[in-house]
Amino acid sequence: MNRREYFQMAMAGALGAALPARRLEAEQQVARAVRGLPVPTIKDIQVIATQPLGARLIVVKILTDQDGLYGYGCATFTQRADLVVPAVEKYLKPLLLGKPTDRIEDTWQACYNSSYWRSGPVLNNAISGIDQALWDIKGRQANMPVYELLGGKAREAALTYATVGGMDASEAIDKARQMMEQGFRCIKIMTGVPGMAAYGPRNGPQIKGLHPGPVFDSEPYMRHARGMLEECRKQLGDEIGLIHDVHERVSPHQAVQFAKELEPLNLFYLEDVLSPEDIDYFRQVRQQCATSLAMGELFSNPHEWQPLIAERLIDYIRCHLSQVGGLTPARKIAILAEQFGVKTAWHGPPDVSPVGHTAQLHLDLASWNFGIQEGGVIKGVEAEIFTGCAAYKDGFLWASDAPGWGIEVNEQLAAKYPFRDGPDHLNGGWGEIRRYDGSIIKQ
Ligand SMILES: [Mg+2]
Repeated sequence: MNRREYFQMAMAGALGAALPARRLEAEQQVARAVRGLPVPTIKDIQVIATQPLGARLIVVKILTDQDGLYGYGCATFTQRADLVVPAVEKYLKPLLLGKPTDRIEDTWQACYNSSYWRSGPVLNNAISGIDQALWDIKGRQANMPVYELLGGKAREAALTYATVGGMDASEAIDKARQMMEQGFRCIKIMTGVPGMAAYGPRNGPQIKGLHPGPVFDSEPYMRHARGMLEECRKQLGDEIGLIHDVHERVSPHQAVQFAKELEPLNLFYLEDVLSPEDIDYFRQVRQQCATSLAMGELFSNPHEWQPLIAERLIDYIRCHLSQVGGLTPARKIAILAEQFGVKTAWHGPPDVSPVGHTAQLHLDLASWNFGIQEGGVIKGVEAEIFTGCAAYKDGFLWASDAPGWGIEVNEQLAAKYPFRDGPDHLNGGWGEIRRYDGSIIKQ
């Protein structure tokens, strides 16, 4: 045995003695860290269906086997709300009862793949309810708000915007000024079109087409909206951020033309200038003008957002958190978008539940590439049912620092506002809008 071999043997002997001691110490450390914290399991999954204001809200509640530990998640698909309930109760609940609550990614993948056919709005919303409730539970366990679990705040508060509509420029400008007095630094201007069922106000006598229903045609809309937005920019000044939502109501060729015409107005962004079926045309829009573009509220499949982000064809990704399956996939979208210089502007109209608005806000706070947040100012009876929502001040949303989402739900009060049918008997679904000639448009 030479000196080297002797030295190696001596070292091995010393390590052999040291390793069990170190391993024992490590095991004791783990035991100390998790003492008193057994992993909760899912004991029950309940669905809260309520319509305190206009939108039908679906919120999932997961109860655990630990007393007082539960969580809430948004599963609101207001146009088909009744279909989400059995998706949760009859399919996800049997899959998940008795499972641990701590494996959020694993649970999301199990739910997503258990239907074999996937990426549809009903199932994605149902998964979102589960997913967000598990994040809420994890935050409550950790005694931290969820944004802390996402890496902590990348900003103090989230910029939000107000939406106003007008049949003409003076009406829109008056309303925008009222919002600016409340501190909003960015305003979405929705434009009515005289005689037509635009995605904005619908006042005055309506045009009669070759069919009995409401009429919309894209050429008059584009002319009217352009004039209104030009006047808004002139009257409201250059400092206010202006947004306009086309709501996919023009043809691809018109989308290119419209985005070019609005370029001098320096919009904060032009939203949904194309439908999801026409997203390949974003290349043409991009090549022809520098108008800032936002897209994504209708997306439910990764193949829809991936090319727009990876090819840098949009400036803001606007997915609806529950529609893509909850916080878990939205977080991945945000991280993907950051790599390509795309900002987030999650979809946040009143048909997102206050739980969903809060989930968005936590992601906004933790995402470096956050751009702006729609909605999030919860008012009236919704604020009585869902306590702990964001505070609004001077154009910004501030999250509470309570554990999880920081939201408690007054379920007794929610039960006093069951779903109600409207005069159209469409059960929350949207009706038809047709062109003058009777052909249906996308809404
Ligand atoms: Mg929109």
